[in-house]
Amino acid sequence: MSSAAFIPYGRQIIDESDIDAVVATLRSPWLTTGPQVEAFEAEFSTYVAARNAVAVANGTAALHLAMLAAGIGPGDEVIVPAITFVATANAALYLGADVKFADIEPDTFLLDPRSARSLISDRTKAIVAVDYAGMPCDYASLRALSDEFGLILIGDASHAPGAEFGGSMVGSIADLTTFSFHPVKHLTTGEGGMVTTASDELAAKLRMLRAHGVATDFRKREAAGTWEWDQVELGYNYRIADINCALGRSQLKKQHEWVESRRQIAQRYRDALADVPQLSTQEEPAGRRSAWHLFPVRITGPDSAAKRRNAFTSMRSDGIGVNVHYRPVYLNSYYAGLGYEAGLCPVSEEVYDGLLSLPMWPGLEWSDQSRVIDSLRRALDVDN
Ligand SMILES: *Cc1c(COP(=O)(O)O)cnc(C)c1O
Repeated sequence: MSSAAFIPYGRQIIDESDIDAVVATLRSPWLTTGPQVEAFEAEFSTYVAARNAVAVANGTAALHLAMLAAGIGPGDEVIVPAITFVATANAALYLGADVKFADIEPDTFLLDPRSARSLISDRTKAIVAVDYAGMPCDYASLRALSDEFGLILIGDASHAPGAEFGGSMVGSIADLTTFSFHPVKHLTTGEGGMVTTASDELAAKLRMLRAHGVATDFRKREAAGTWEWDQVELGYNYRIADINCALGRSQLKKQHEWVESRRQIAQRYRDALADVPQLSTQEEPAGRRSAWHLFPVRITGPDSAAKRRNAFTSMRSDGIGVNVHYRPVYLNSYYAGLGYEAGLCPVSEEVYDGLLSLPMWPGLEWSDQSRVIDSLRRALDVDN
């Protein structure tokens, strides 16, 4: 075992300019619902080429509000891939909708449009495309499918700011796209999220719903010289503070460079692991550019679950913070309690058995990446 420092699978990067931006906001008159929020929204919408961006408290709030604004409610069905973070599915449950878990493609680990099609019923209201690990879903097929059945296409791009599909930025493709700014994601606001949409009407609704369902905010009332306000819908307090958005703006300046760095790290992993027969990496189909939030590898073959467990343990003892993203959502106890059973999405379950996320973040040093590669090869017994 090496005595070298522990390598995390991902972590935030905070520099002096980030700290200065937060401190300047603390000295300003606006701690929340102020100019930093608006500026962050404007800059983020430019980055992902979306017409509108609405900043909220976290990525889960972004999903909840996107689904609420899309009109999802009790009795509706929402199609979600089995391999995602639980929040994607939970958001539909918050609204009383039913979740239909779609299977994934074995090479991209992404929502399989054919599986989504097989789940469509007259209760289906939306499909949630999760850009797992930063890889954009097959938006062309999912758009066509949504249009054919009159469904809303929601992107959960928590992993994918900076990703592209067919030359379009993720965030400008689905009807509504959500992002997360949790510290382990690409750029952070501490806690935070964003919803982007081309629809001015949906954007206005999101703004109202993030602030209790009240139609105007304090600054608008001040500007109009009035104290009167009206709650017109049942909304939430899903606001994000100016303090957080100041950090987000400062982080966003580095995001382009960070994605390039992640892409280089991914390329090196792919080159260094290409000769390992029992391992496959996530396919990046032609015309797509991943933002590489994660670098998942899949151990294949009949003993994949045992080999994955062994690789996890041996890499951890080498000081390497490997992780697993994700167990199919419906295998969680809460979902089992709702009646979902093992076997529902066979490809997801088979892929999950061999999944392992390798360290991936823009500060990962070349020498540390070499340690990860060597450790994984040793764990899989490749070099003896
Ligand atoms: C992180 C994440 C979320 C939730 O974001 P929070 O900001 O943690 O609430 C939702 N979906 C996916 C796929 C995520 O990775």
